[in-house]
Amino acid sequence: MTVFENSQTIQRLVREAVAKRDLPHLPCRLVAVSKTKPVSDIVEAYNAGIRHFGENYIQELHEKSNDSTIIEKCPDIKWHYVGHLQSNKSKLLSKVKNLFLMETIDSTKLCDKLNSESMLPESGSRLKVLVQVNSSGETQKSGTTSNEAVSLVDHIVSKCPNLEFRGLMTIGSYGHDYTQGENPDFEVLLSCKERLLDHMGLKEADLEMSFGMSNDYLHAISMGSTNVRVGSSIFGSRQYPTS
Ligand SMILES: *Cc1c(COP(=O)(O)O)cnc(C)c1O
Repeated sequence: MTVFENSQTIQRLVREAVAKRDLPHLPCRLVAVSKTKPVSDIVEAYNAGIRHFGENYIQELHEKSNDSTIIEKCPDIKWHYVGHLQSNKSKLLSKVKNLFLMETIDSTKLCDKLNSESMLPESGSRLKVLVQVNSSGETQKSGTTSNEAVSLVDHIVSKCPNLEFRGLMTIGSYGHDYTQGENPDFEVLLSCKERLLDHMGLKEADLEMSFGMSNDYLHAISMGSTNVRVGSSIFGSRQYPTS
């Protein structure tokens, strides 16, 4: 299967799963996670209709978003940053072209850094952000605990006028066995959402929920995801350099 064909198939499966779920007021977008993959693959997925793309290494996102082929052939592209961002690399984020959503806010320090004037995206509009929740509690995963999430959101809303809080994101543990019931990490994220809705007096449709990857995006959609991040099902498995 080509990237073009995979892109068409996954877009159709996402559409069908959204139509089938019991949440008619909630849309769900597909983010194609293109990390380690060449610009030509991104153009192919774009030509198949995908507009949202995600990267999890800041240097790679910076390079690809400023790539002349991408700029020429994918004028309407919308980039998501889905990796861990160290505060000392945060400057690069402001140089990303067509940045749509920063999905991995995990500390007040990072918020303050991104909020500072020099971090404003070139469009001059506020930077849309999600707070990443470490729903599985694994130490190698980034994110706040679900208890800290509410105070981190408060910090963004009250102290960071250049950031626009949009919702929550999680990765969760890999390889959950769905024959044993729903993914407990997604349940953690959803209960965090309920607390936030209460706390902020918001409606369900006001909060973005980013969860679900290649192995479970259809489950995630049925549970209420509004932003699934799919990599290998579109681009094939990734090869990492052995070092
Ligand atoms: C790589 C990555 C994905 C996509 O993973 P696949 O299993 O290849 O679909 C999604 N989210 C994040 C944060 C990632 O780093």
